[in-house]
Amino acid sequence: GNIISETAMAAPSTDVLHFVLLPLMAQGHMIPMVDIARILAQTGTTVTIITTPVNANRFKSVIDRAIEAELNIQMLELQFPFVESGLPEGCETFDMLPSAAHIVNMLKAMKMFEEPFERMLQVLCPPPSCIISDGAFPWTADVAKRLNIPRLVFYGPGCFPFLCIHILNKTNILDEIKSNSEYFALPDVPDHIEVTKPQASGWGKGNRKETKEVFEQTQEAEKATFGIVVNSFEELEPMYVEAFEKAKDTKVWCIGPVSLCNKSFQDLSERGNKVVRSEHDCMKWLDSREVKSVVYVCLGSLSHASTEQAIELALGLELSGIPFIWFIRQTREEFEKWLLEERYEERIKDRGLMVRGWAPQILILSHQAIGGFITHCGWNSTLEGICAGIPMVTWPHFAEQFLNERFIVDVLKIGVKIGAEVPITFIEKDTLEVMVKRKAIKTAVEVLMNEQEEGEARRRRAREVGEMAKKAMEEGGSSYLNIKLMIQAIAEEVAKNNKPIQDIV
Ligand code: UDP
Repeated sequence: GNIISETAMAAPSTDVLHFVLLPLMAQGHMIPMVDIARILAQTGTTVTIITTPVNANRFKSVIDRAIEAELNIQMLELQFPFVESGLPEGCETFDMLPSAAHIVNMLKAMKMFEEPFERMLQVLCPPPSCIISDGAFPWTADVAKRLNIPRLVFYGPGCFPFLCIHILNKTNILDEIKSNSEYFALPDVPDHIEVTKPQASGWGKGNRKETKEVFEQTQEAEKATFGIVVNSFEELEPMYVEAFEKAKDTKVWCIGPVSLCNKSFQDLSERGNKVVRSEHDCMKWLDSREVKSVVYVCLGSLSHASTEQAIELALGLELSGIPFIWFIRQTREEFEKWLLEERYEERIKDRGLMVRGWAPQILILSHQAIGGFITHCGWNSTLEGICAGIPMVTWPHFAEQFLNERFIVDVLKIGVKIGAEVPITFIEKDTLEVMVKRKAIKTAVEVLMNEQEEGEARRRRAREVGEMAKKAMEEGGSSYLNIKLMIQAIAEEVAKNNKPIQDIV
C-alpha cells in the first residue's frame, strides 16, 4: 500500500538538522536571512550561511557573537566572479552597483554560484538537510534535487505584496491596461486595493528581459519547492496568508518579524552594518527629546535621492516645524555644498539632527522619543516600523514598495501617503526631477504627527499591531510555533528521504 510506515511517521529528532542559507547579496535580504539563521540555530539545529566575502564581512561580528553564545552557526564564503561577470573588483552587493546597467552583470554573477555552492554542500559536516534559498537563485532547486534534500524559498516581502504580485502575473490584467497613470483595482484580493500599472510592475514579469527571465525561472523552481518562508506573522495579514498559501498551493510559514530576535545592544546597533557615527550620539540626542515627538527619516539600503530631491526633503522637514532625525546613507558633494551655503544644519539645530551613514534602525525606532517614521516602504523597514508600534509616512520608490504602501495605508491604516506616484530606479543617481515636493512632505508629516482624533486613532492601531508582532514571536506565539512546525516538517521530510523505498511504501 502507499501508507507511510509507523517508523517513518515517528517524530524524528530535529537537533541533527543542518540548514544551509543562501541569501541574495542585498541588505534587505541579507539582514533578515541572518536573523533567520540565528533563530534556527537557537532551536538547536546547525546552520551555515553561504555568501561572498564583502557580504560576510558586514555580518562577521554578529555571527561571532552567536558562536560565542554557543550556537551551531557558521558563515562560509564563495569567491565572487568579478572577471566572468564584468563587475568591478569588490562590487559584491546591490548597493555597490555603479549603475543600473550593471544589474545585468549582477544577475550573471548570481547564476555562477551553482557549481561552487554545490561543491561546498557536498563536503559540509554534518551533511546539509535543507537549503533555504533566496528566490533569486532558482538553480538551488536543482542542487536540492541532486542532493535529495528539501528546498525552502525566501523572497523577502510579506504575503500581501506577494498575493498581489501573484494575481498580477496569473492574470493578463497589466497587458490590458494602457495608461500609466490610471488607477485600477486588483481583482480577487480581500481588500479594495488600487494601483497604477507602473506601481504594480516593480516585481515579477517586470519590463527588463533579464529580470523577466529570472522571474520565470523562479516560478519554475517553486514547483519543486518544499515551502515558502515569509518574514511576517499570521495575525498581521490573516486573509492574505491564507489566500497566498492557497494560490501557491504550497506550505507557507510565517516566522517573523525576524528582527525581534535581536536582543543585545550590540546586535541591535550593528544590524546590517557598522554604524559610522557613534550610536551613542544619536541616542543622547534622542534622550533629550520629548516622548513620541521625533520623526525618523530613512529611505532604506538602496535608494539614492537626487540632490534636488534631498534639498526638497530638507526644506519640507524644516517647513513642518516637527523634530526629526534623518539618516543619509550616501550623501553627495553637491548636497553637502547646499547644506553649507544655506547653513541648513545651523537653521534646524534646535530640533533636527542629520546623520551621514548607516542607521542603527531598530535601535532608533524603539527609542521612546520616536513618534513617526518616514519610510520608503521596503518590507523590512515596514515590519520594523510595525514592531516599534509607530505610524508611518509612506514614500515608496521601487520594487514592491508601492504595494507595501497600500498595505500600510489601506489595510493596516497606520500610514499617511506622501504622494509619490511614479516608481524610480534605486540606482538612478542623476534624475533631476523632484518627485515629491516640499509642501507634500510638510503636510504628510504634520498629518502624521497631529494630535487630533484621526492621528490618535492611527497611533492606537500602530501600537496594537506592534503588540501583536511581539506576541507572535514570544513563546507560544504564532511565529514561534510556525518555526517549530517548519523544522519538524523538514525533519520528517529528511527522515522520509533517508528511508529505503520499501520502508515507506
Ligand atoms: N537599514 C539600516 N540602516 C540604514 C538603512 C537600512 O539598518 O541606514 C536596514 C533596515 O533596518 C532594514 C534593511 O536595512 O532591515 C532595509 O531593508 P528594506 O526591506 O526596508 O529596504 P531595502 O533597503 O531592501 O530597499
